[in-house]
Amino acid sequence: MVKEVFWDHNFQEYMTVKDCPYCQDSANYTEIAKKPQVVVKCNTCGLYRLYPRMNHEGQIAMFKRYNEEKIDIAKWKNKLVNIDRHTLREVEKIKQIFPQVFQNGRVLDVGCAEGAFDLALKRAGANPTGIEPKGDLVELGKEEGLDLHVGRFELGAGGIPSDLENHSFDLICFRGTLYYMPNLHQTFDLLNTYLKPGGGLYINISVATSIYFFFISKDFSQRLGLNAASMPTKKSLEYILNREGYKIHKISYYWPGYALNVPKWVSKSFLHRIIGMGGRFGLSLFAYFIRRGDRVVAYASKK
Ligand SMILES: [Zn+2]
Repeated sequence: MVKEVFWDHNFQEYMTVKDCPYCQDSANYTEIAKKPQVVVKCNTCGLYRLYPRMNHEGQIAMFKRYNEEKIDIAKWKNKLVNIDRHTLREVEKIKQIFPQVFQNGRVLDVGCAEGAFDLALKRAGANPTGIEPKGDLVELGKEEGLDLHVGRFELGAGGIPSDLENHSFDLICFRGTLYYMPNLHQTFDLLNTYLKPGGGLYINISVATSIYFFFISKDFSQRLGLNAASMPTKKSLEYILNREGYKIHKISYYWPGYALNVPKWVSKSFLHRIIGMGGRFGLSLFAYFIRRGDRVVAYASKK
């Protein structure tokens, strides 16, 4: 997503929702951060959320602004031409857990952006469909012959495109997108509708326990934007998946060296050089072993 939108704090007037996006309970929380946004942790499910968080009107306004932002076409096109090695590796890992999906099984990628992940899935033998709120990114992927649609994984206007209604999928993927789901009950209801019986769920997500938030700011909106409804921990994801009746095949911190988004000043710092013996890999290895890794990946199936 485009960063400038996220740093725009003109959206404060839309911050009115106090409940947990999963438990829908506005009490029973612990305060985690005070500034610039208040962040609380739900004592029931363990999700972190902004308090208050953005309402529906704000989400719509945010997506409208997001769609108006111009993109650097060459940069996004290049992502499709030279698929990132992390993305390729991610697809390989998914294939190890859900091999049957790669025999032309249908995959839904929620928040697919330009579709590089979808292209990698397709080349590995799956049949992917992507949804993404930003129209010009969808157009780029379509030019590559991908089945991408403008939409979000939600009910109502701007939600799941009507041409995907009555479709069902062997695997649904949320890569860095689950935080933007304002109502996780609705998300899991939709998963019940769109996942085939026994279908797979893949989640790749930054977590609130990450070394990043520890060092930089516990207010995750600094990184994800004011429209991020929640931030999970590994434990809260396990809790929710279990409650929703999923069998978890594997849930772990992302193996070091992959997508640990430490800012440049950290990766170049003296501390990092000592821990890391040079390079970004070292700090991520350290973070991984102290269970402060930046990302968690979860592979689960509908029971
Ligand atoms: Zn909760």
